[in-house]
Amino acid sequence: MEITRMELSARYDKWMRSFGLITYPEIYADSREDFIWHGYRPSPSSISYCLKSLFYPTNETLNVWTHFIPFSLMIWRSYRIYQSLDDPTNPETYPFWFETFALIILFFSSSCAHLFSCRSGEGREICFCIDYGSIGITSFALSVATNAYLCPLHCYGNLEDLFLPFPALLAVACGLIVCVTFISRHPSCQQWKTLLRFFPFIALCWVLLTPCFHRFFVVKFPEIFENSRYVNLTECNLVKERFPSEFILILCLMNVTSLVIGIKIPERWFPGMFDIVGHSHQCFHILSAICLYMTNVMAENGMLDLIKLKRQGLLKDENLKFSFREWLMSFVFFLAIIFTSGFYASKVLGKIVQEQRRRSNLKKT
Ligand SMILES: [Zn+2]
Repeated sequence: MEITRMELSARYDKWMRSFGLITYPEIYADSREDFIWHGYRPSPSSISYCLKSLFYPTNETLNVWTHFIPFSLMIWRSYRIYQSLDDPTNPETYPFWFETFALIILFFSSSCAHLFSCRSGEGREICFCIDYGSIGITSFALSVATNAYLCPLHCYGNLEDLFLPFPALLAVACGLIVCVTFISRHPSCQQWKTLLRFFPFIALCWVLLTPCFHRFFVVKFPEIFENSRYVNLTECNLVKERFPSEFILILCLMNVTSLVIGIKIPERWFPGMFDIVGHSHQCFHILSAICLYMTNVMAENGMLDLIKLKRQGLLKDENLKFSFREWLMSFVFFLAIIFTSGFYASKVLGKIVQEQRRRSNLKKT
């Protein structure tokens, strides 16, 4: 007997409902995802349901796993590097550990945000404010690592004065960008949410990779900078061959990742087809995890280079001019901005969402 398309769809629907899952029209407006029709977990849900849903065919399951696996791999990787270094507690390794630790926090908080987002309307806002805050911390840490290893101040020649207030400026920029992402969750910003959430981070990535651009051009085209008083060619050229290729790979990956999430590829073209496996958020998680892993490898190589050059006497402490104190103070300032704004944003947004849900319940009854 031939099964019709309608029967197949009814069977699929019944199977999904056996896990307690609901469809696009049944979920609250605040939890809907464009072009995703099936696999929504009901909200509010209990903590045990959230944990069980790790093994259910929901549209969030792979969002959790695609950052939980990188979280576990990053812990393993940091343990392996810690074991391999002669002196892993040397202050020269601090920027690298800071970046690694920020990545671990990011992957973990993103997994938790996706896992517990159906807990309640208020819980969802708290989860995603923590998620955006951890993206901000990672951006800041990435900048610390690139500035410490890939283009320290000694590379800049006479330009170095320009970069001295850089940590403080970056703390303010990262703080503002994280605040914009909090605001993007407000119901009145719904039509601009993709732009408000991703454009600031893309802009920030370009800014924080500025030292890499600088070094890339110096390494690739040293002849341009031969008579420049803004570049210290001898010291800036002490860099591994593989840096330019690593940097280009990261740039390409970053742009592809932003495109996938910004345009919502592939579900925009095939609505309902990639509800459980293969939608843009999962692709975004996988691509961003690869991209962040690459930045960590680039920082590790930069750190190993720096340690080796210092041992060979080619770099001296006074040449490095990397001020931990300035970076630390700026980071504390940045944390204060995002904790305060995140706390208030999740409170305000949580109340709005609860009120919207109460009104839509009244309409149904
Ligand atoms: Zn995510």
